[in-house]
Amino acid sequence: MKAALLNKPAPVSTNPLVVSDVATPTPRSGEILVRVSHCGVCRTDLHIVEGELPQRKSPVIPGHQVIGTIESFGSGSSGGHKFNLGDRVGVAWLHHTDGTCHYCRTGAENLCDHPTFTGYTVDGGYAEFVVADEEFVYAIPPSFTDQQAAPLLCAGIIGFRSLRLADVKPGDRLGFYGFGAAAHLAIQVALHWKAEVYALTRDERHRRLALELGAKWAGDTFDAPPEQLDAAIVFAPAGEIVPVALKILRKGGSVVLGGIHMSPIPSFSYDLLYQERIVRSVANNTRKDGEDFLRIAAEIPIRSHVKLFLLAEANRALNSLKSDAIEGAAVIQVRDT
Ligand SMILES: [Zn+2]
Ligand SMILES: [Zn+2]
Repeated sequence: MKAALLNKPAPVSTNPLVVSDVATPTPRSGEILVRVSHCGVCRTDLHIVEGELPQRKSPVIPGHQVIGTIESFGSGSSGGHKFNLGDRVGVAWLHHTDGTCHYCRTGAENLCDHPTFTGYTVDGGYAEFVVADEEFVYAIPPSFTDQQAAPLLCAGIIGFRSLRLADVKPGDRLGFYGFGAAAHLAIQVALHWKAEVYALTRDERHRRLALELGAKWAGDTFDAPPEQLDAAIVFAPAGEIVPVALKILRKGGSVVLGGIHMSPIPSFSYDLLYQERIVRSVANNTRKDGEDFLRIAAEIPIRSHVKLFLLAEANRALNSLKSDAIEGAAVIQVRDT
């Protein structure tokens, strides 16, 4: 099969992904082989490719927002299957958990002590085929096309979990720092929940998209919005935003950090945190987050703004993401559908 391989992390400007012919993987018991149609491009892919996250597998095929169809089941799979051959499924970041640790047993499998991750510790979807654990893939609501559905699988689900951790209530004023793939989906959920969204981003095109999608206000990253906010979600991987976001929060408000990697957070005065303000991160998601989000996404219905790239253009997709040139989400089209 054709796949985009990362041998060694390097700046994306050096085009480190190499599209190669590799052996099609074989699913084991409990696993499925998925024929990939589309794979969303996530900022986490950029952190993996550029080495901001430590390399866990070499070479590795990135990509964890995969839409495809079930090509085969692993041999030795016993009992019934959740899905049938040919069913459309979504393969997301959480590839597998141990199911036995404290976190798995208490409804927090996103924090599992022994997780594996698609496109990081195991091969992902920048390829014609990917192996997934049948228990960890999602049914995709039929109303979404493949390209529309791909960004829902990480940008969408993580944005949704960020909103949950921000404890959004009707009438709340929410700040979004960075307005890329995750924010452009999360705003649609936030508005559905009758919250107001204030977009703070350095990129003028992203501010325009935020206003088009119904943001109450859009400004530069370090501008002060016209009102105090109830919560802020930081999608941009820039630690210097944290004290700035705290400054615009009401008492008791939360700053939720939506990314897997962030540059160092500068020290700041305790006054910014005092009055019961909260700073918390978002790590991965549970399958329940994913299932709840996909159901709500179909109800709203959410519309993904997508820019398509071919598999051979994977480096270009990552470079475009890094330079803020994507409005909405980048998606790699692996197969003509
Ligand atoms: Zn666990
Ligand atoms: Zn992701």
